[in-house]
Amino acid sequence: MKKDVIIIGAGASGLMCAIEAGKRGRSVLVLDHSEKIGEKIRVSGGGRCNFTNIDIRPDNYISNNPHFCKSALARFTPNDFIAMLERHGIDYYEKEAGQLFCRGSSGEIINMLQEECSRMGVEIRIHCRIEDVKRDDLFTVSTNLGTFETESLVVATGGLSYPKLGATDIGYRIARQFGIKVVAARPALVPFTLTPQDLKIATELSGVSINAVVTCHGRSFRGDILFTHRGLSGPAILQISSYWNPGDVININLLPDTDAYDLFMARRQGRMEMHNLLSEFLPRRFAQKWCELYIQSKPLNQYSDKELKAIAQQIHNWTVKPIGTEGYKTAEVTLGGIDTDELSSKTMEAKKVSGLYFIGEVVDVTGQLGGYNLHWAWASGFAAGQYV
Ligand SMILES: Cc1cc2nc3c(=O)[nH]c(=O)nc-3n(C[C@H](O)[C@H](O)[C@H](O)COP(=O)(O)OP(=O)(O)OC[C@H]3O[C@@H](n4cnc5c(N)ncnc54)[C@H](O)[C@@H]3O)c2cc1C
Repeated sequence: MKKDVIIIGAGASGLMCAIEAGKRGRSVLVLDHSEKIGEKIRVSGGGRCNFTNIDIRPDNYISNNPHFCKSALARFTPNDFIAMLERHGIDYYEKEAGQLFCRGSSGEIINMLQEECSRMGVEIRIHCRIEDVKRDDLFTVSTNLGTFETESLVVATGGLSYPKLGATDIGYRIARQFGIKVVAARPALVPFTLTPQDLKIATELSGVSINAVVTCHGRSFRGDILFTHRGLSGPAILQISSYWNPGDVININLLPDTDAYDLFMARRQGRMEMHNLLSEFLPRRFAQKWCELYIQSKPLNQYSDKELKAIAQQIHNWTVKPIGTEGYKTAEVTLGGIDTDELSSKTMEAKKVSGLYFIGEVVDVTGQLGGYNLHWAWASGFAAGQYV
């Protein structure tokens, strides 16, 4: 069977690309090995899909080439996606800091994409195992469901995170097969694991959450950090994990809104115990444990100025050294991927191989937490959809 366009991967980017190519009158076939389409969309945002962010800037993305994402993001904006939702009567709301979620469920977005695909005559085949990809005049894709030929082959197979939802490395393998460079992949937006000693503490504090500022390599994120029986998690930790490299420490400002030294000085004549004072600003269980580990808690009037200064400094710059991350099993995204030097930022086509396109998370463009990853999938899918 011959089609104008074959897209491998029926996720966010692949479906968007299929719709756009369909609108241009191209015959489109989407192949996916999973049982259902859009599985990552379904689980995203805790089932409510944080589908975009109204404040999208290139700085929200990590890539070896920070300029690469600009062109696609400029041509498909959050308002473009919102307009699509509104045409389909899908209700949404802003949760925090520009993050837009479905009011109902992420299934509504999958239905919308599926409906648009069928309106554009896009054919989708699931349970389709890709066996081989070759190129002569045309691309030939051999699968368990037969052999398909096309002029334009789009690789939209995502990253390596959440293998239980169908993630594989096929995108990177196809790239390498055609001599296209791939930037080493690693898990991102992922909880940290800790040394056995630190893990014991995290387990004792399991369930405690603190609103803090977490910093690594000059990047800071404000948000909750959460102690779990596996280590450290929470939005601020997931954000910083994308900037963390093995061996790095992370710095945590536990009291970002209060000058701890000023606070101690204002209360230093009193007999209140330090852990009780800190419990006014931090969860009690944490304040107690933190004092037990790092300082000797005693009444405030028994500390010297020097001691109070040191404690304040430690509160504002608590350092933790993770030993690793939980890996692809729980990572929301994958850093690295198809080297952007190999692709046109306008069309997503490989510079070396005409007719071969890469879109979405498989490309070395990774968003921060907050709707940026799905938006990259929509925008890069839209961009390629205009040219395939
Ligand atoms: C738990 C979780 C929550 C998330 N929440 C959010 C969120 O709220 N907001 C946000 O912006 N981002 C979120 N993300 C990230 C976001 O879901 C992804 O970045 C986005 O879906 C990537 O889209 P994609 O089209 O590139 O790839 P995917 O959506 O992963 O699609 C890839 C498709 O390719 C198929 N495929 C893979 N290998 C093969 C193969 N060998 N043969 C055939 N088909 C194959 C897969 O089955 C899949 O359907 C979340 C991710 C996870 C895991």
